[in-house]
Amino acid sequence: MLLLLIAVPLIILAGVAHSILQAYAPSNVLIRHVRAARSTVRMAIGLGGLAFGCALAVQEIDRAIGAGAPSWLNLVVLVLAWDAIKFTVMACLTSLESAVERIRIITVGLAHPWFRGTRRAKGVERIAGSSRAAPRRPVTGVSNVAADTRRFPARGVLWPTTVPEERGWGPIATHSAIEWTEVTWNPVTGCDRVAAGCDNCYALTLAKRLKAMGAEKYQNDGDPRTSGPGFGVTLHPSSLDQPYRWRSPKVVFVNSMSDLFHAKVPLDFIRDIFDVMRETPQHTYQVLTKRAHRMARVADKLDWPDNLWMGVSVESLEVVDRIDHLRATPAATRFLSCEPLLTALPGLDLEQIDWVIAGGESGPHARPMDPEWVENIRDQCLRADVAFFFKQWGGRTPKANGRELDGRTWDDMPALAAGA
Ligand code: SF4
Repeated sequence: MLLLLIAVPLIILAGVAHSILQAYAPSNVLIRHVRAARSTVRMAIGLGGLAFGCALAVQEIDRAIGAGAPSWLNLVVLVLAWDAIKFTVMACLTSLESAVERIRIITVGLAHPWFRGTRRAKGVERIAGSSRAAPRRPVTGVSNVAADTRRFPARGVLWPTTVPEERGWGPIATHSAIEWTEVTWNPVTGCDRVAAGCDNCYALTLAKRLKAMGAEKYQNDGDPRTSGPGFGVTLHPSSLDQPYRWRSPKVVFVNSMSDLFHAKVPLDFIRDIFDVMRETPQHTYQVLTKRAHRMARVADKLDWPDNLWMGVSVESLEVVDRIDHLRATPAATRFLSCEPLLTALPGLDLEQIDWVIAGGESGPHARPMDPEWVENIRDQCLRADVAFFFKQWGGRTPKANGRELDGRTWDDMPALAAGA
């Protein structure tokens, strides 16, 4: 009885708290915690009821057998005991579900939307469904500002990372952490690994996290052998109009979370993306692919805009033939991304190549890069008068070992599109 007197008000209180949170909580995470607490209380009551009911049932059955027939009271006790069993089993299942949910939330960690409020307090804005650009603050680090002024003279300052549309924060420019671009635009998401360079694909890992966070664009799973959760190739026609809404000219990395020339991206959709690029000449677009074969195959079916920089990944000697496919396209600006650099690349044919990016791998499974490989690429670029950009040495994190080569940074880029 005492147990019931304590537990029933607790349940009522939990219910009230749940309703309040549902109405006012910044996200549903708190609600889940309340649900978990409520389930735990229910389970405790159920267990108490079960013990109480069983004891009474045993006593009454014993008495009934002695008396020759069960009384009405015996039957009621039996029904109550059965109810208690059912109740307990259900409560246990609910608690288990809550526990699993809590573990899921904990593993997603600080990236969970619950913490968005904290991020907003630090100055990064969410503008869901708005065409307004996010408020921006200059980075305070002097060297960064100087580097970015050199890279994007029209900008003057480097804006902080990141306000990812991938988190479902609306159609705004996604300020990128990638040193050689400004924003990302993902009308396609998802991909499949095709080469050694994909082994530690950051996009694949990020897609898994974004799916767990409930990001709309990352709910389609890919083949587990080559892709992963949230990383199935998915077209997003609704993202096509984003560049029209950006008020200022931008340098845009297209499909940072996919590969535009993936076989599952229809030619018509690639054409749509090219159309958007052509119709927004104020922006400079960077497209990078490992599907150089397909790019070359469909090149003459596309109308190439002047503000598109077309690039191929050249992470090892095995894939240098991608450079020939790139040369076969009529792209106005061509570039190579030698990142993550996995082998030396002596004797690169840099004819008709405007820009080379090099960099080491980052992340917990980063593969080491020999400094001589980078120096060699840099020297080839200097000899061929090709712009050279050294992104990072790599390591556990992108900034772990800095990005200086021979005592300085290398931030050369081709000229931006007119107006950019
Ligand atoms: S091609 Fe690019 S996006 Fe696709 S799996 Fe490889 S590294 Fe990831």
